[in-house]
Amino acid sequence: MKDDFPDLGNSADIPNLDFETRKLLQDNKTEADDNGDRIRKLEDKLANLSLVTEALWNLLNTRTRLTDEDLATSINNVAQTRKAREESKLTCIKCKMQNSINHKKCMYCGGELTGHTSKSLFNF
Ligand SMILES: [Zn+2]
Repeated sequence: MKDDFPDLGNSADIPNLDFETRKLLQDNKTEADDNGDRIRKLEDKLANLSLVTEALWNLLNTRTRLTDEDLATSINNVAQTRKAREESKLTCIKCKMQNSINHKKCMYCGGELTGHTSKSLFNF
């Protein structure tokens, strides 16, 4: 079925397209290629981060008394702390509406929000 359609990445393969449409197709292909490059770079960074994390854990595991169980407990604790932080709400001073912790101003009226909790070093 896929072969029934022209390759939209190469607008020269499609007859009778006006200049604007060809330009749009080319721009979209360029953007898709750029996004593909960005995803590949992120995948490489993620793989490297995973490698470093495992190496660091191996060092800790072999040179301290920390166990795999200790690591699993710590991961669960961090996951719970992050979930609670993400679910906490801020209250608008003006309209009293509840806002997500991710907002800097009230999403309803633009007012100041109260209840900011201290940020973790790992909030990013
Ligand atoms: Zn508000």
